[in-house]
Amino acid sequence: MTGFARTSLSRRQGSSRGIGVAPVNPADTNRACPECSCGKKSNRSDQATYRCLACGYTVKADRNAAGNVARAKVTRPSTTAAVDKVKG
Ligand SMILES: [Zn+2]
Repeated sequence: MTGFARTSLSRRQGSSRGIGVAPVNPADTNRACPECSCGKKSNRSDQATYRCLACGYTVKADRNAAGNVARAKVTRPSTTAAVDKVKG
């Protein structure tokens, strides 16, 4: 399955279930350290392990990449917007 086909399928599945789907550029999601933002390619010591050479943060590589993708699009409503909504 191509990346485009996978994205189209995900959007259809998400919208049919009332779930917003946002594309995320996957570039460097497997390199970035969530602890110190270091993005060196050498942080991947092997295919399965992510180890930040700057701060020592170590985790399974897939878990690190998934967390970076999630953090790329998670936004929280601002406090002002929430207050405005309550005020009407
Ligand atoms: Zn780090």
